Amino acid sequence: MTDHILPATDTSTDNNSKQINNDNRAGLNTEPKIAIIGGGLTGLFTATLLERAFLKQQTKSTVNSLAPQITIFEKSRSVGRLATRYRTDSKTNKNWQWAFGAQFFTVKTSSFQQFIAPWLNSELLQPWCAQVVSLTPANVHIQDAQAQDANSPNIERKEQWDTTHARYISTPKMTSWGRVLADNLQHTTIKFKTRVAPINKVQMDSVQDNKAIKTELFDETGSSLGWFDWIICTAPNGQAVELMADSGFTEQAKITEPQMLACYTLMLGWDNLEQLPKTLSNDIQSAWDVAYVNASILDRIFIEHQKPAHDDLLPSVTIHARNDWSEEHVDDDIETVKAQLLAAAQQALNWHNDHAPSQIDCHRWRYAATVIDVKNRSTNEALGILIDTQHQWIASGDWCGQGNIESCYQVAKETVKVLCAS
Ligand SMILES: Cc1cc2nc3c(=O)[nH]c(=O)nc-3n(C[C@H](O)[C@H](O)[C@H](O)COP(=O)(O)OP(=O)(O)OC[C@H]3O[C@@H](n4cnc5c(N)ncnc54)[C@H](O)[C@@H]3O)c2cc1C
Repeated sequence: MTDHILPATDTSTDNNSKQINNDNRAGLNTEPKIAIIGGGLTGLFTATLLERAFLKQQTKSTVNSLAPQITIFEKSRSVGRLATRYRTDSKTNKNWQWAFGAQFFTVKTSSFQQFIAPWLNSELLQPWCAQVVSLTPANVHIQDAQAQDANSPNIERKEQWDTTHARYISTPKMTSWGRVLADNLQHTTIKFKTRVAPINKVQMDSVQDNKAIKTELFDETGSSLGWFDWIICTAPNGQAVELMADSGFTEQAKITEPQMLACYTLMLGWDNLEQLPKTLSNDIQSAWDVAYVNASILDRIFIEHQKPAHDDLLPSVTIHARNDWSEEHVDDDIETVKAQLLAAAQQALNWHNDHAPSQIDCHRWRYAATVIDVKNRSTNEALGILIDTQHQWIASGDWCGQGNIESCYQVAKETVKVLCAS
């Protein structure tokens, strides 16, 4: 493996730069080609950090190294899949909005804090100082308007998120950050609606004479997507395992180590604030933004229109079901699930028919929460990215970390370090 992608940024010396230049003269003078499968946040962070590593090297070095050619293949029509929002306005003309995947993210390392700083300054990212409560539904069915008070849930203040241990959101939409990350990429092409087909052994061409290891990727119609020096797969592990199944990926067995649990999301919309059930109205003393639900198939309730820079929305509420319940019902009919979640939401939020939501949607996430299998591991530390140096393939994604947005950044950093050192 002598085809250097990028020099090590933190440890690079002039010798490193010369090494790259020599390799180029030896017949490898084409720009390194890197394919990233998946345009979620892991893919976008990886491309961003790769480009930054290249720029850093350019400013340090006296010789011009070739800019990497990065291609992100994304099977859907937009970036940032799990950190996304659901909208109905094209169908209903109503401005409801639900961050139906990730609601917020945490920043626990100084490196990630530094990374997000420019977008915090521009207020694209904002801390969400939510008032958090614990909500226990009354265990009675709603019969009529008089019975309402008896059916009120028990709401207790839990905490208020603050700017010290902040939870951040992207504004005005959860997708805004992904879009900006994508727009800022200089050496990266994003190919939407392109599903990469499973990699098989014959696609890899290890041309030893040239000392180059390259892999050809194909889409699902069998058309070539090109040859690449490195393949970075950021698909969820349930999909990564299929993509790599016949490839001879040396780390294949580890892909399924983290278990991914499902999550159903219920999205509710009301036509105006007056229509909201009392439990949700923010003029009562116990006004809240986020509720952790007890004794229910529901896990958490998020009030979207109370988030920073979301006040132009019609009342919109996102509810995540419990992961264990969602996993148990993952193959159930979606309409049945929706009805069960709606009944649980009505019980938790205690609305009478006059205050029923006018918009109700339900989404099934098959791969939502990462569970680290401590039985198979000596520690409960995250798996880390899976590297096959023989083929120059990496399997990455939030599931290699703790299954959250901060993990996407950590695994992107790990990936760039490997490529820089190769
Ligand atoms: C319900 C829910 C709630 C969550 N809540 C939080 C939270 O509160 N805080 C937090 O930090 N995180 C939360 N998360 C997790 C967070 O959303 C994820 O960690 C993050 O978005 C994962 O990004 P990713 O790029 O690793 O994966 P993904 O977003 O899944 O991106 C992978 C991409 O690969 C694409 N792909 C797959 N196969 C192929 C193929 N063959 N060819 C081309 N493209 C392909 C997919 O279309 C997808 O866009 C939540 C997730 C869910 C589902």
